[in-house]
Order: sequence, then structure tokens, then C-alpha cells
Amino acid sequence: MKFACFGAAGLMALALNPAFAQAEPSQTNQDFMVLEAGVPADLLPGAAVGDELGEYRFTVEFAPTQNNEFALIKNMLQRSGVFSDVLDELSDQIALPENVPVIFQECGNANAYWSRDDHTVTMCYELAAQFFDDYSMLDNKFAPIFPWADHRQVTIGSTLFVLLHEIGHGMVTLFDLPITGREEDVVDQFAIFILTNSDEEDQALAERPSRLALLASYGMMRTELPMERAPRHYWGDEHSLAKQRGMDMLCLVFGSDPDAYALPVIPGFSMIADYAEQNPDAFTSPALIEALNRTDDFNLIPWMRAQQCPMAYAKYEASWDYLIETFMTPKSN
Ligand SMILES: [Zn+2]
Repeated sequence: MKFACFGAAGLMALALNPAFAQAEPSQTNQDFMVLEAGVPADLLPGAAVGDELGEYRFTVEFAPTQNNEFALIKNMLQRSGVFSDVLDELSDQIALPENVPVIFQECGNANAYWSRDDHTVTMCYELAAQFFDDYSMLDNKFAPIFPWADHRQVTIGSTLFVLLHEIGHGMVTLFDLPITGREEDVVDQFAIFILTNSDEEDQALAERPSRLALLASYGMMRTELPMERAPRHYWGDEHSLAKQRGMDMLCLVFGSDPDAYALPVIPGFSMIADYAEQNPDAFTSPALIEALNRTDDFNLIPWMRAQQCPMAYAKYEASWDYLIETFMTPKSN
């Protein structure tokens, strides 16, 4: 059995535990011995698509738990209704070739994964509980993002991002989607795309589904690893480094709507840009760059990177639109 796990849980354990603990490996002994060449799917546009939009659906189940802490987490997640709502909407927009169960359950470790054999997504209560516990360790730099996010919202937002990441792995498998980069990065981009596309025009930041991706990025960004002690498998992991993933998430959400997200994501840059706009003669070009560099610590992503984010988002969005239209929508539509 082969799983695509979320990765952050392992990385967090790696970051926080001096013994470099990792998530449990999920392969069987036999799988470790497989050294055959990979056989890719045919990648025929539309070959794997279902007959009708919404005919087959994602189903969400919250398994019972005897553990009191996880029972609280289960109630919080279930009561929010957000997981069923988002997946219902997604079910209507694509033609799944089969029903896809999403199961929240106790796993024995903090993880989430898509099973390529069973075609199910498993979301572990332990991972959501970890997000809940991590809230108290929030970095002050994230303060501008969090006036509209409490403990509960951060837990739900982070868990929803992970769920959409795993659904992304499912989409790659079920629809034989072509990808030209690391699948782990591709499905992070899918999760952002789903959230930003759920935003409505003129919606307040505090109401936007895309803000949940910002809440999720904190968990990635806060991981610290003493680099000189990092073992080789850390660098060889199939996931990009956690801080890079967090930066990429922030970059794409900012890029999806630079006007709305400049202030929370790049406050240093926004401050200088506002000042320069009101005082057009205040800076020579070198002085402007110096001012932007001096305030760069306020920004959640470096201002130089932020320049590229709107175009990066536009490219990913156009690519996902194309993939959904070509690979996930029946021809009759
Ligand atoms: Zn993954």
C-alpha cells in the first residue's frame, strides 16, 4: 500500500523533537523492495472523467473516538460544517469517476493521507489536535493576519488546507492529471486554488475562504530546524521544506488578490508604497530599495518575492482551469 502523506506532521516532529522523530512509515516491507520502473498513466484528456458533474461525490465521515481530547476536536470540526460544504461544492463542479470517502479518525499519529489503493482520504484527529495545540506558539509576525482568527478558526483552517492537499493527490490519481513538478507542491497549489476560487467579490477578508490558507501557512512557517543537524533524508524528502511551502502558500494567496492581501502579507512593503504614493519625490530609486529592504522584516514573504506572486498565481490558476475543463469535466458540458 502506498500513501502520499501530508508531510508537515513529520516535519514538525522533526523540527521540535531532538531525536528527529518522524511520522510512522506507512509502506509494507514488500513495497520497500520494489525497484521496478514506474509506469505512468496514459494522460489522455477526459479518459478518466465520470459521465456527469456531481453524479459521484466526496462523502465525509467523522469516526467515533473514546479519547476525550479527540472527541472535542471531532465536535469542533464536525460542527463547523465547512468540510462537507467545501467538498459538496467541489463535487458539483467536477465529474468524479467514483465516490470518494473522506474519513476523519484516530490514527495513532498526526498525519493525513490519500490512499492510492483504496481511493480514500484519511484525516487524523491527532493532526487537527496538533494544530489546536500549536495555536499558542503563533509567531507575532502573523498578528496582522489573526485579528479575525481565533483558536478554532486556525485549527479548522489548517485542517481544511490539509484536506484539500490530500484531495489534490486524489485528483492527480483519479483523473490521470499531467504534472511537471513535485506532486507535493502541485497539490498545495490545488488547495490554494480551491480556496481562492471560493472567495466572493467584495467579501471582507474575515469572511474569505482564502484566508484559511493564510492561517494554515503559519504552521509551516513556524517550523525551525537546526540545519547543521538535519539528516540526509530531510533534504531528500518528497515535500519541499516546510518554510518554503508556507512562503509559497502566502505568495499564491497574496497573488490571487494583491489589493486585499498586501497589508496582512507584506505590511512593510505596503507602508513604503503608501508613503511613496503620497510623496512622489520622497525617494530616489536606490533610496526606495533601501527603504524596502529595511522594512522587509515586517513582511511575511520578502518583497522581492512578492513582486512575482500575482503572475505566478495567474499561471497556476490558468493551468488548473485548463486541467479541470479538459480532464475533470465531461465533454457534453
Ligand atoms: Zn501530500
